[in-house]
Amino acid sequence: MFGTRPTVDGNVSSEAVDVLQDNRITSGHGGKKYLPDMDISELQQFLQSMGQQKFRAKQIFRWIARGASDFDEMSDLSKELRQELKLYAVVSGLNIRKKFVSSIDGTTKYLLEMSDGNIIESVLMKYNHGYTACISSQIGCKMGCSFCASTIAGFRRDLTGGEMLEQILAIERDSGIKVGNVVIMGIGEPFDNYDNVLRFLRLVHAPEGLNIGYRHITVSTCGLVPGILRLSDENMQVNLAISLHAPNDHIRQRIMPVGRKYRIDKIIEACKIYTEKTKRRITFEYALIEGVNDSPENAAELASRLRGLLCHVNLIPVNSVKETGFRQSGHRKIDEFAAILTKRGIETTVRRELGSDINAACGQLRRSEMDSDRCKS
Ligand code: SAH
Repeated sequence: MFGTRPTVDGNVSSEAVDVLQDNRITSGHGGKKYLPDMDISELQQFLQSMGQQKFRAKQIFRWIARGASDFDEMSDLSKELRQELKLYAVVSGLNIRKKFVSSIDGTTKYLLEMSDGNIIESVLMKYNHGYTACISSQIGCKMGCSFCASTIAGFRRDLTGGEMLEQILAIERDSGIKVGNVVIMGIGEPFDNYDNVLRFLRLVHAPEGLNIGYRHITVSTCGLVPGILRLSDENMQVNLAISLHAPNDHIRQRIMPVGRKYRIDKIIEACKIYTEKTKRRITFEYALIEGVNDSPENAAELASRLRGLLCHVNLIPVNSVKETGFRQSGHRKIDEFAAILTKRGIETTVRRELGSDINAACGQLRRSEMDSDRCKS
């Protein structure tokens, strides 16, 4: 453990003590500091506590963002410093265990093993405007949406900001592709892990790091109102997506337990505040499930609820998840639903399904598929 190491003059500095006592950063890495969690000023403190110069922090931060998984890759640090850093810290805590490439559209799903042995999923998708990484924010999910695979195996733990960042770094390292957009739409509910998600947003945005603009990042929530309101106060122009999936509370509560806690009216109120503060347009995700939420009346009710809000609706033909039994609405139904919304002035798109042959589509991600024989690498 790093805790007893004195500085050059023999005393443990107070800054050093702060860093040493920060157990959040040490857990799960054999007592060593997990550097992807740290911003530049925390890295500076860490280096100072080792008796090193502060300016090294930026070098290390840049190396991490460039995907270095070992201190030995950091060629502008002396060999001695690299050796010393290895004693106290790690730059990577995640390994690619498996990857699946869709033969339909090239979407790639990664199974990533965390330092504590848990496995999560991340997805790389290609759109006309570039590459998007879909990352997980938790190991498992507590929200219990009845159509979603991510919730089936239950909840294990939150991911840290660095673990979210590392999903992108692992994808970039493996694919050689520069990720331009990030969606937090993998496993987990981001606003159930607010502080870590916020840390991630700052890390991924940092100019010395991946330097991805907030407008290129989307946070998707099942509608945790306090999270929406908090994010609206952060002065970040992050895109917000709301998993609405129903035009009224009655239907919503049938398929989403969280609908009992936060009513649609309250969600829409919070979204109004979000659009006023950030000037960003909200996306409402709506998975069309045959016979549940896909009637013309449902479309008309949805349109009237969203009227006047800076938003658009993204219709998703519900993806199959073997345990749920829900069926996709037919193409005619989907087109009709979209047409009603459009006619009533709500901008609407139908989401292109990516990676459905490898269970990488929305709602198909789950905590671990290591034993599954449905996916072939
Ligand atoms: N917990 C967050 C992040 C998950 S994002 C949220 O709820 O927004 C994943 C998106 O896929 C959400 O909109 C989710 O509701 C949707 N989804 C879940 N299961 C699905 C399925 N079987 N078919 C289509 N979309 C699904």
